Amino acid sequence: MAKAVGIDLGTTNSVISVMEGGESVVLVNSEGNRTTPSVVGFKDDQRLVGQVAKRQGVLNPKGTIFEAKRFIGRTWDEIQHEAERAPYEVVKGDDGGVRFVVAGEQHTPEAISAMVLRKLVSDASEQLGQKITKAVITVPAYFNNAQREATQNAGKIAGLEVLRIVNEPTAAALAYGLDKKGSETVLVFDLGGGTFDVSVLEVGDGVFEVRSTSGDTHLGGSDFDYAIVNWLADEFKAEYNVDLRKDKQALQRLIEASEKAKIELSGLPETTISLPFIAMDPASNAPLYLEKKLSRSKFEDLIGSLLGRIRGPVEQALKDAKLSKDKIDEIILVGGSTRVPAVKKLVKELLGKEPNQTVNPDEVVALGAAIQAGVLTGEVDDIVLLDVTPLSLGVETKGGVFTKLIERNTTVPVRKTETFTTADHNQTGVEVHVLQGERSMAGDNKSLGRFKLENLPPMPAGAPQIEITYDIDANGVLNVSAKEKSTGKAASITIQNTTTLADDEVDTMVKDAERHAEEDRVRREGAEARNQLDSLRLQAQKAVDEAEGASDEQKQPLQAAMDEAKTALDGNAPKDELESKGQALAAALQAFMQATAPQAADGPDDGEPTTEASPADGDDDVIDADFKPSGT
Ligand code: AMP
Repeated sequence: MAKAVGIDLGTTNSVISVMEGGESVVLVNSEGNRTTPSVVGFKDDQRLVGQVAKRQGVLNPKGTIFEAKRFIGRTWDEIQHEAERAPYEVVKGDDGGVRFVVAGEQHTPEAISAMVLRKLVSDASEQLGQKITKAVITVPAYFNNAQREATQNAGKIAGLEVLRIVNEPTAAALAYGLDKKGSETVLVFDLGGGTFDVSVLEVGDGVFEVRSTSGDTHLGGSDFDYAIVNWLADEFKAEYNVDLRKDKQALQRLIEASEKAKIELSGLPETTISLPFIAMDPASNAPLYLEKKLSRSKFEDLIGSLLGRIRGPVEQALKDAKLSKDKIDEIILVGGSTRVPAVKKLVKELLGKEPNQTVNPDEVVALGAAIQAGVLTGEVDDIVLLDVTPLSLGVETKGGVFTKLIERNTTVPVRKTETFTTADHNQTGVEVHVLQGERSMAGDNKSLGRFKLENLPPMPAGAPQIEITYDIDANGVLNVSAKEKSTGKAASITIQNTTTLADDEVDTMVKDAERHAEEDRVRREGAEARNQLDSLRLQAQKAVDEAEGASDEQKQPLQAAMDEAKTALDGNAPKDELESKGQALAAALQAFMQATAPQAADGPDDGEPTTEASPADGDDDVIDADFKPSGT
């Protein structure tokens, strides 16, 4: 059987692994290295990938694309600030996405990532002596649908069949947990070149369940590099009044020297950064040299605020998993940046435990991806892999309420169906507004897409039974479908690149939801009270319309209660008033029904309205949440 590989398509470096003799092993590239820089260089007519591309970046800053992963699946609006600090040209594409421009030619982040994948796979094919066509590719746990899709497309462009997109921390735990027997709670701390993920997993008996994930996709080793770059450039400017950041070539050299210094400081207390001929003195036109000593403590000082951003996601991940830090059995370090001593120290401080360092942090993700590839091709048995949704998913219901179908941190793949109904009589369509977030009101959450279920036959409010199904596949891609049960009318949507969720927004949204919890509760209860009163008013109106023999005297109290309800609804009355009007109206409706009911009691149900707001009693799935009328 053809082998499938596991690929850690990293922001800075990528690694490819395969199962050999029941073991996951890293494959070396054509230069003999186990990691390949995720860098593509365009030079004359040549396309260079990996180390050669990285090396010529100094002389070719505009033609050397690195960190394409920061841009993949993102819109220009989300990522503009990152585009501005890149030494190469990044522009907004016609579709609102991102394009790299080299020598007048535009390249998508997918196309650049595909070039990296192609090199990894062709070197691996060479080494294995067989053509590789199938792969599992990893992404940060916080990647949204658009980013996952775009990564999958990068694989397709590279000629690969992407068997599965797997979260990086999950892959790491997979590599780590294979040999484990008992059940353990593992915290995966992944600080790579450009992203930071924390995940809490239950590992045991071949099952890996992600309990929670948190992170910051704008935090990584390259931010440490930029901290040094900025310090060097500021010092240089103070001394010579030349801003090295304005010269792309000098900037590229500064970035490389800063990364080198940072790596050295993981093993040494001090290092020296030397950059000869870095600029020309504007006054004398003489060449300028940069030579600076950097101590580990100064470096730790420079990255202090970046380190401060590690705490929040760690605490959030523990909170979401409903665990205190002493319940964590094992801490796995992933990503080259966990080699920074201050990072290791901080992890220990935050979790009160020494992290496990037996797994190579640069390779562990790719090793896990190869195991997953082995599972999918039948080479590895007895492992089930479970991931979770990072945010809750739901639908907008009447009154702008956000009704959740899938709670955040639910294990995927998952399929959930709920039955909804209409709010108004003779509504011929409903609009399904799909949202993601933690706030009670739809308007405060992220809109993922909308679609309409139309051409419903006229029915009383509450009569249609509209089944809404949310289906998230193993890659985290969401399909939403709606079906009216009595007519069979159906419509659906696949959430792809419609609107993307900026990843740091996930964190913000969770925190916002906590901060506004009380206010949201009040608004939600207010909206629910309104909805109840409104549907009661509709029922009362229907009862009046249908009670042919009723006298004006009988109708009058009910009409008065209906008028009062309408005044309260139109006047945006507070919840208490809405509720008391609701009680009065319910009592008036009941009295009216009794007074006008036909004498032959207990006959077969002829569809008389009841005072119950729920339209389909006895069915657990039917919830009392109504759609807004479709946009007519
Ligand atoms: P990864 O995305 O896991 O390949 O991590 C790459 C990041 O780790 C880059 O920012 C590297 O500069 C950084 N890195 C690699 N080795 C070290 C080290 N020994 N000390 C500090 N940072 C490192």
